[in-house]
Amino acid sequence: MGSAASHILPPSDPGNPEGDSVREFKALFRSLDVEAEWLEPMSRHTTFRIGGPVACLVRPLDEASLAKALGELKRLGLPHFILGAGSNILPPDDPWDVAAVQLTRSCSDIVPIEEHGDRVRVRVGAGGMLSRLLRFCVRHQLGGIEFLAGIPGTVGGAVVMNAGTKRGCIGEALLWVDVLDGNGRRHRLEKSRLSVSYRSLGLPPDAVVLGACLDLRRSVGAKLRGELLEILRHRRATQPLGYPSAGCIFKNPPGASAGALIEQVGLKGWKVGGAQISEKHANWIVNLGKARAEEVLALVEEAEKRVFEAFGLRMEREIRILG
Ligand SMILES: Cc1cc2nc3c(=O)[nH]c(=O)nc-3n(C[C@H](O)[C@H](O)[C@H](O)COP(=O)(O)OP(=O)(O)OC[C@H]3O[C@@H](n4cnc5c(N)ncnc54)[C@H](O)[C@@H]3O)c2cc1C
Repeated sequence: MGSAASHILPPSDPGNPEGDSVREFKALFRSLDVEAEWLEPMSRHTTFRIGGPVACLVRPLDEASLAKALGELKRLGLPHFILGAGSNILPPDDPWDVAAVQLTRSCSDIVPIEEHGDRVRVRVGAGGMLSRLLRFCVRHQLGGIEFLAGIPGTVGGAVVMNAGTKRGCIGEALLWVDVLDGNGRRHRLEKSRLSVSYRSLGLPPDAVVLGACLDLRRSVGAKLRGELLEILRHRRATQPLGYPSAGCIFKNPPGASAGALIEQVGLKGWKVGGAQISEKHANWIVNLGKARAEEVLALVEEAEKRVFEAFGLRMEREIRILG
């Protein structure tokens, strides 16, 4: 996240949408090609359905406007973060003095760029949803990333998180990533320059992912469709998909299952307010209706404490707790 040198919302009156600094900010964005929504509740943009308003949600309309908007935010010292589909984050409940920048309108193309025998290289924009990418793969009979089925994120979020399952992760299919660095310069990072690991691609923290190139292989549409349906069926059987959540809360420690550890310390089904450690899968926290971020956090901390006391293990968080 950018530094918090200046404010977007007036600090004394965070609910006042027409404060001086908001007016300045609106003027700034009128000069750029962006969509902006003010005091936008993050609960509308997270799969947890949790989160108070951010000062503004900015959607640049193309890559040049994205670079300019990020440059202006930096020049003014205004804090910001990149929002994907909000499926791996927990934002705070209270008004939050940041700009959330989303790439859905600026970088979401999917373009086959090269073929070698049965391999096809496809460049995918960071703002597009994984579900759309998988539909493209079925239509063009391209395999290699079926394991992403049912992950409700964007390509950019999946690249940053090196999303995947036991069957594989996106880093395995990756050839390179295009990023903007903290100074707004575009770079192509070949996979050999990245330290790819479990749920991390090792990107610099201020890198904004613009897109990536995936190495896919020719397959058969009906076979792909069958595999995707089987993966989705398995998810429905094992995961609490009927409730808002952010998927797994913790990374699995080496050789262990975070869900099994949480279950062994007796927390399966445990509730704080409207948040619950799922009865179906103990590494998931679900929002039963009106859960607050602080209630989810209380469950996260309780699980960490009990697992450490019982097994001497410090579980690493997979979800990103913001604010
Ligand atoms: C029902 C459900 C099932 C899930 N199953 C899985 C699973 O099987 N495997 C798995 O790995 N994950 C899973 N997840 C978690 C989540 O979907 C993934 O981590 C996903 O890749 C996050 O993508 P996103 O676009 O939602 O990112 P967000 O949650 O919006 O952001 C995640 C992080 O990435 C950063 N970010 C996002 N886009 C960019 C960008 N373009 N440039 C720079 N930074 C960026 C954000 O700032 C944030 O720090 C699941 C979640 C849910 C709700």
